Amino acid sequence: MGINAKCKNCGKESDSEGFKLHYQFRMMVCPNCFSGRTEQQNKIIEKKEVKKPAGWDKEDEYLEKISKLKKEEQKVMFKKIPGTDHVMCKCNMCKYSFKYNPFKKMPRSCPYCNADIPKLRTFSML
Ligand SMILES: [Zn+2]
Ligand SMILES: [Zn+2]
Repeated sequence: MGINAKCKNCGKESDSEGFKLHYQFRMMVCPNCFSGRTEQQNKIIEKKEVKKPAGWDKEDEYLEKISKLKKEEQKVMFKKIPGTDHVMCKCNMCKYSFKYNPFKKMPRSCPYCNADIPKLRTFSML
């Protein structure tokens, strides 16, 4: 067995006799790095990290949904009109209140200032 040497590419120690000069890294690297195995492993780790942060679970997803809904609620105020399919919508831009039909999605914009009406996802919660 030869002497162990630290690979400058991956930081792992390995038999120095297996070290080879890598044309891309322009340095002596361990057999794992030379064969591209380290790179492959790094890619797998990166892919996993991109998917979802560690500790992410359904509760987080639920909380994220709620916070999104709350943000949308702040934009436009919807109030159900009892006995009808309509809701009262208060435009956040001009504070104009008007009847809104969430099923027909009418009107499409604020009749006063023409501001867009966000999707009424909060309606089922009312
Ligand atoms: Zn290495
Ligand atoms: Zn408006």
